[in-house]
Amino acid sequence: MTEPLLALRNVTRHFHTQAGVVRALDDVSLHVSRGETLGLVGESGCGKSTVARVAMRLTDVDTGRVLLDGEDIGARRGSALDTIRTRLQMVFQDPAASLNPRTTVGRALEEPLIVHRRGASAARRARVAEMLDKVGLHAYMAARLPHELSGGQRQRVAIARALMLEPDLIVCDEAVSALDVSIRAQVLNLLLDLRDTLGIAYLFISHDLAVVRHMSDRIAVMYLGQVVEQGPRDAVWDSALHPYTRALIASAPSARREARERPGAVIEGELPSPLAPPAGCRFHTRCAYASAQCRESAPVLRERDAGHWVACHVA
Ligand code: SF4
Repeated sequence: MTEPLLALRNVTRHFHTQAGVVRALDDVSLHVSRGETLGLVGESGCGKSTVARVAMRLTDVDTGRVLLDGEDIGARRGSALDTIRTRLQMVFQDPAASLNPRTTVGRALEEPLIVHRRGASAARRARVAEMLDKVGLHAYMAARLPHELSGGQRQRVAIARALMLEPDLIVCDEAVSALDVSIRAQVLNLLLDLRDTLGIAYLFISHDLAVVRHMSDRIAVMYLGQVVEQGPRDAVWDSALHPYTRALIASAPSARREARERPGAVIEGELPSPLAPPAGCRFHTRCAYASAQCRESAPVLRERDAGHWVACHVA
């Protein structure tokens, strides 16, 4: 088997706060292959953004490994880490996170090339114009400041900036969540076009399973710091095995009537605190199928079908 482009292997990440230990990730394993989109879905607070930060090496892991082309990059520091960061880029929910309000679009796009000493001035400007065109903007927009653009245009600039160093993978963390519905569809289709033309892989993070379904080749579902199901997109969407995944699908506007009427289709109660996750299966406090076994022992991920994994005692 060829190595995946990016892999997290048994990653655990806890944060020590005044309130106690936040168990953001516990034994999380994921991978993204070249040119592939892995959709990562789950409620707010389930650990998705910590996965993004771990993948980008913006935070260290407590245990486990982060592999790029099979090489453990967990210990990389300084210039060795900078090299990694040219291959992995990120697009945030709010483009303001990557755009300085006082810096023109052209300068913002040129900056990564300057920092990494790529090309002379004329070549850099040509690349800026090329990238603006690739994301559906005009070359004259290089002279604009971010506030002179619409929200959708700003997100296109953020995508262009992520593309400047020709990365292998872009982590999109709720990248379209703040956009209006019509603009969201345009930006999603832009990301798909870029994947097809440039061969980029995405780790596409969203709380919205319908968006993740549209974008992804495979889907991973997280609940309270753990992956509870993952597999090929159609297998997860059409034949979800975990009660939590089924409930997420049932809540999507496009869900079939049978899915909405199944027991457990509506998740009751709040997401428990990651400071004190429930014992046994972490979903048992909200699961319509919970048994004594679920309250006592944590289910492990098992492969139920080719590439389709689930962590549930009764799935
Ligand atoms: Fe529900 Fe039990 Fe499966 Fe957890 S292990 S999802 S509580 S049935």
